[in-house]
Formats: sequence, C-alpha cells, structure tokens
Amino acid sequence: MKHISVIGAGQMGNGIAHVFAQSGYPVTLIDIAQDRLDKAVATITKNLDRQVAKGTLTEAQKAAALAHVATSTDMATGVQGADLVVEAATENVDLKLRIFKDIDAHAPASAILATNTSSISITRIAAVTGRPGQVIGMHFMNPVPVMKLVEVIRGYNTTDAVTRAIMDLSTAIGKTPVEVNDYAGFVANRILMPMINEAIQTLFQGVGGVAEIDTVMKLGMAHPMGPLQLADFIGLDTCLAIMRVLQEGFGDPKYAPCPLLVQMVTAGKLGVKSGEGFYAYTPGSKDLVVAPAFARG
Ligand code: NAD
Repeated sequence: MKHISVIGAGQMGNGIAHVFAQSGYPVTLIDIAQDRLDKAVATITKNLDRQVAKGTLTEAQKAAALAHVATSTDMATGVQGADLVVEAATENVDLKLRIFKDIDAHAPASAILATNTSSISITRIAAVTGRPGQVIGMHFMNPVPVMKLVEVIRGYNTTDAVTRAIMDLSTAIGKTPVEVNDYAGFVANRILMPMINEAIQTLFQGVGGVAEIDTVMKLGMAHPMGPLQLADFIGLDTCLAIMRVLQEGFGDPKYAPCPLLVQMVTAGKLGVKSGEGFYAYTPGSKDLVVAPAFARG
C-alpha cells in the first residue's frame, strides 16, 4: 500500500486518517465540504498533541504524521492514485452504494475498496462495483487512535488475497484484526447494539433513570462506560441506522429500535456530536450531566 484515500471526515474518518498517517502512509481525506475537512484536520492535530503531551509521540513524529494528510472535496481526483480506499461516510445504505459506484469508476482497477460500515452488508456494497472480490469490511472502533480492534469482514466474493492484505495492513498500523463473515451487524454490533437498544427500552419504560442504568452496567458488569453514554458517543443516528439494518437483515422483531431512540434522532438529539443525547455536553467540560429531558426532579 503506497497511498490510502479515506472517504468521510467525521469522527471515524479523521481517526482512520490519523492512524494511517502516523504509520507513515500518505492519506487523502475526502468529504463533501471544506469546513468538515478543516475540522477533521484540527481534530487530528489536537489528538496528536495529546499523544505528544503523554510522551508517546515526539514533535517530529507529529509533524511527519500531519505532513502525510492531504484533503479533497472531489471524490474523482481524491481516489485517483489510491491503492486502498477506506469509506467512512454516514451509515446510510443508499449513500454508500452511490459512493462505491463512484469510487469504482475513479480508483485504479487494482485498488482495494474497504468500508468502515458498522452493519451494512459488504456483499451488497460489493455488488454495485465491477470488482466484488476486492471489496471488504475494515471496521475500526471508536476512538480509532486508541482502540486496538479492527473487525475485518469478508463479503461473499472477497478473495483470500484481499483479506490477507487487509489483515496484514491492520497489524502493520498497530491494530489487532479479527476476521468475520458478512451477516448484518457482523459480530461487534450484532451483540452491542441490541444491548444499547435494550438499555434505551429500559429507560423508556421507566425501569431506571439514565444515571441508574449506566451505573448498573458500569459497576455491575464492569463495563468502562454505561450503554447510554456509549450510545451518545457512537451517535444516536448511527445506533438507529444499525438497528434498522439488523431488523431488515434478520426480519426478527427483537431488533425493532426503541421508539425513544427513533424520537430522539428525529428531534436532532444525536449525542456528543450534536451536544445532547442522554447526557448534555458542554465544550471543554468533562462533567457527565444527564440531559434536561431525563433529569429527575
Ligand atoms: P459522522 O457523522 O461523524 O461522519 C460522517 C461523515 O461522512 C461526515 O463528515 C459527512 O460529511 C461525510 N459524508 C457524507 N456523505 C458523503 C459523501 N458523499 N462523500 C464524502 N463524505 C460524505 O459519522 P461516523 O461516526 O464517523 O461514522 C462513519 C461510518 O463509520 C459509518 O458507516 C458508521 O457506521 C461507522 N462507524 C461508526 C462508529 C462510531 O462509533 N461512530 C464506529 C465504527 C464504525
């Protein structure tokens, strides 16, 4: 791999660009608007600064990583020289199918096309391209620079050589890859999302409050973060999109998203990225404050 293009500069895309750049790969980060790219580069800089402050990175290594990140708002030119394209745009099937048709038209014929989707079928995405054997899931965890796991998902047609290349690349950037097969939600979200949805259902039915539910799971199950806080962190829109994929993929009513989750997404309460979800977030503050809608009087 000599050049990597990353599509989507949101919370995952900036982290993916960060880890590749830090490992010495030139990266082109692509999004629909320049302000999103500027924000992503500012986030990468801030996260690299944090590593320097901790003593895990030198100033020279930080400068080298930043020098490896280029940005583009033009997909066609942004993927032109790529050996690998990692798509990390919004979790929406139609959008991803459109993006993959576009990447397929403009990336070199030899390029591997990976998606960071949390749940959407790799086989379905691969089918809109002329190279289904070269399409694969490369599912990073949030926050990407910190989390070790990469879930590597083989589509129905993904070749052994492409799977091996992505497993090896994941190891080369300091991650631990795990190979899984292509069914809705794969392994990570097949297990995590129904738990989060059930926590929201528990809140919806008044069994417990936000802080109580999260405390039970933190202290009772030794989870580092409660499921409602984790949902805010992932993004409630992303959680809802994943539940819908599980529901459609298995046709089982147990995957129906909680009405409260649907309502919150409709109201624009998306969690950390919108400033409010189950908790309210104030820039610069690390305090965990239950959102006014769920505060107990
Ligand atoms: P996000 O909302 O933070 O970012 C999505 C980005 O995609 C935005 O910057 C948006 O402008 C961009 N985008 C939309 N349409 C585009 C297009 N046509 N071309 C280029 N860019 C486009 O979302 P996120 O949390 O970074 O999630 C991105 C992907 O990663 C999703 O598939 C999600 O399921 C997956 N994922 C998310 C998490 C998580 O914890 N949030 C974890 C693992 C995987």
